[in-house]
Amino acid sequence: MEVDDCLRYNRAIDELRQREFPMLKDTVYLDHAGTTLYPKSLIERFSADMISNLYGNPHSASNASQLTAHRIEDVRLRLLGMFGADPDDFDVVFVANATAGIKLVMDAFRDQKQGFWYGYHRDSHTSLIGVRESAQDHRCFTTDAEVEDWMDQAAAHVGRPGLFAYPAQSNMNGRRLPLDWSSRIRTNSRRAVYTLLDAAALVSTTPLDLSDPNYAPDFTVLSLYKIFGFPDLGALIVRKASGHVFDRRRYFGGGTVEMVVCLKEQWHAKKADTLHERLEDGTLPIHSIMALDTAMTVHRELFESLERVSTHASFLATRLYADLSSLRHGNGEPVCRVYKDSMSAYGEAKTQGPIVAFNIRNHMGGWISNAEVEKLAAVKNFQIRTGGLCNPGGVASSLGLAPWEMKENFSAGQRCGNDNDIIRAKPTGMIRASLGAMSTLEDVTSFVQFVREFYVQDAPLKWTPPVTSLPLEPPTPIRLHVESISVYPIKSCAAFSVPPGKAWQVRGEGLAWDREWCLVNQGTGAALSQKRYPQMALIRPSIDLDEGVLRVRLAGTLRGTAATTEVTVPLSADPRLFSEEATYKETDARVCGDSIKAKTYRSTSISDFFTQALGVACHLARFPAVGSGPNTIPSSRHSKAHLQKLHKQNSMHIPGAFPDTKPLASFNGVSKPILLSNESPILTVSRSSLNRLNELIKAEGGKAAQAEVFRANIVIAQNLEYPPGAEEPYAEDDWRYLQVGQQYFEMLGPCRRCQMVCVDQRTAEKNQEPFVTLSKTRRFDGRVYFGQHTCHIPLDDASSLGQNPTVTVGDAVYPILEDEVDQDSRLQSLVD
Ligand SMILES: *Cc1c(COP(=O)(O)O)cnc(C)c1O
Repeated sequence: MEVDDCLRYNRAIDELRQREFPMLKDTVYLDHAGTTLYPKSLIERFSADMISNLYGNPHSASNASQLTAHRIEDVRLRLLGMFGADPDDFDVVFVANATAGIKLVMDAFRDQKQGFWYGYHRDSHTSLIGVRESAQDHRCFTTDAEVEDWMDQAAAHVGRPGLFAYPAQSNMNGRRLPLDWSSRIRTNSRRAVYTLLDAAALVSTTPLDLSDPNYAPDFTVLSLYKIFGFPDLGALIVRKASGHVFDRRRYFGGGTVEMVVCLKEQWHAKKADTLHERLEDGTLPIHSIMALDTAMTVHRELFESLERVSTHASFLATRLYADLSSLRHGNGEPVCRVYKDSMSAYGEAKTQGPIVAFNIRNHMGGWISNAEVEKLAAVKNFQIRTGGLCNPGGVASSLGLAPWEMKENFSAGQRCGNDNDIIRAKPTGMIRASLGAMSTLEDVTSFVQFVREFYVQDAPLKWTPPVTSLPLEPPTPIRLHVESISVYPIKSCAAFSVPPGKAWQVRGEGLAWDREWCLVNQGTGAALSQKRYPQMALIRPSIDLDEGVLRVRLAGTLRGTAATTEVTVPLSADPRLFSEEATYKETDARVCGDSIKAKTYRSTSISDFFTQALGVACHLARFPAVGSGPNTIPSSRHSKAHLQKLHKQNSMHIPGAFPDTKPLASFNGVSKPILLSNESPILTVSRSSLNRLNELIKAEGGKAAQAEVFRANIVIAQNLEYPPGAEEPYAEDDWRYLQVGQQYFEMLGPCRRCQMVCVDQRTAEKNQEPFVTLSKTRRFDGRVYFGQHTCHIPLDDASSLGQNPTVTVGDAVYPILEDEVDQDSRLQSLVD
């Protein structure tokens, strides 16, 4: 009966969504705790309002100003009405966001004569925790029982004013905290302890009742965009009986002061009428407040009420929780570890909101990296949130992270949002799926299906055995050659194919001219990447050694976007060879988190070319090769230490445990210098492996991947006379060294992949493949690998081979396995 009602409402939302939320077309949006989406009709009505009415700054007597002033007062009343708050008992202060509301309260307490005591609940959002830095004393309450005990002891604290803050709903796992704490603290405390309720997460899907001023918190903060999606506005609701806290506020600004004597006899008279007049410094965000009025109207029309939204979202979350909790691997082990609070129950509006926080484990209990889940989710168009979720206390207690571990993880380079998210066999963050007004059952079932498809292991994952025909007698050595050589002169732009027969120089930091240039954002200095700007694939650089230039042309949809059809840049790094305006500027470019020194071309025609092509203001920058000329600067980047070898006997050790991969020492014991490539000097890919991958993709009806998407430098293929049925895909996993022509290379370990491999390098369109199939067939310990990091081993002699090492398309390739190293005396002399 009740379920029927929920299903009926779900169908209605499904229809509504087609009409009102076109931005959801290809996306399953499971991040309502972050931002709610705005309906189309809200934007249409808001723009109609803006086009037909003139709204002035309210601080004047013009008609336009008066219209604004009246409407703002109406909106204030209407917003209070949404919470059943009587304007005699409450006032609303418009602020930029919930955090700004919290800071306004904090400032008032900091201005108290003796400062203040601050208490906060463990489940608090980061923005509440920061208040402690302004308090004289503070205490984090790590359980509800601690809060109860403290309240029973008449809220004892030192003799200064106190502020107790907590979230109405945890933004981490959706747990809802008791709303009666405010009144209990008020009645129990001997000295004044005020309460600050952070309702930002709660009210996005649930009504909040402030009709009884004796029961209500003294201060309530909200993010209005979390309810309506638009406008970007927050509110602080103050219980007037506690408004005197603001009397000691020292700052005044335009809008909050009546008169100021500025020169001599300095004096001012603050506004005294209403709280909001005293607290809203400067011009109000008037258009946002107008939009809020429209937002409230449209929300009611589309979703009836917050009660209705609450029931709907709760129904969906209960389903998501149940489904994720019941997923099992083939061996019976659970797939998801869900972080439900022991005090809450899904389906019970008082204790649990529509959020499910969890991590995924493999069948042996190892943790799957959240960064990897997020990459795959992005390819499959699920929008979820992962990481520390701005809730340090909740996350630490759910994950069992001790302060020393968090500090050590921090020193080890762990930051919110980076890939390094499983440390000492513990996850450092979680995955959060949150539901809202326009979520549907379909979102839930498709997400559960996604987890099932990619993470449930029916049988232990094994390497796909190669399709072997009859063994060849006698076993012939693998006969391989270099099929192609590519360099990527500009990081993240298209490849330049080295012409067959051309001997290409190879150095310690990689192939000549590989990733010597990059595009950097003019504002931030960050290097641009295809992950963010897939059209970079259509920027086609080529190395013209005869003319001595890097020539850049545009392809596909980028053709015609720039004023010129191509741009050329001298290959020489000597500044004297540049045209007058092309002087370098030293700049900090951020590449893959490292700070590097690159030199920016100032030439406006060069910058304009790339800026117009990509539609983002950028410069071309050069990262000079190490020691390649008198005017170069030394490289400060080195290949990442996490290069590692995969083990084929992968099921023998526990994935996710640490250290589960063996770091491989490089030939001379030091890390290799690299230019702007992400991880290692050279990336080697096997044609046989690519063929295998593409067979699997095509078997599922997907689109085969080109070698270019892997950004390989060297593609190695089997010789033609070698029987096609006897290909050895992924044989490279076992290679230790390679001899290519006369040169030796060391294999440094497999290359970890992200969704960037899904950008079609010919059209710049994003696909799901090959990442989806790679995730199913080449995932180890939660990470996806394809291709091998490689570096050149310099020959230890003064011959021309040693002084000018090169590789050429067609060169013979001999892999050397670990146990064959002894048999190659020349190699031995190099690596000893
Ligand atoms: C989102 C959120 C905040 C921060 O809100 P802003 O509007 O970004 O300042 C604070 N607390 C909770 C519980 C939230 O969900």
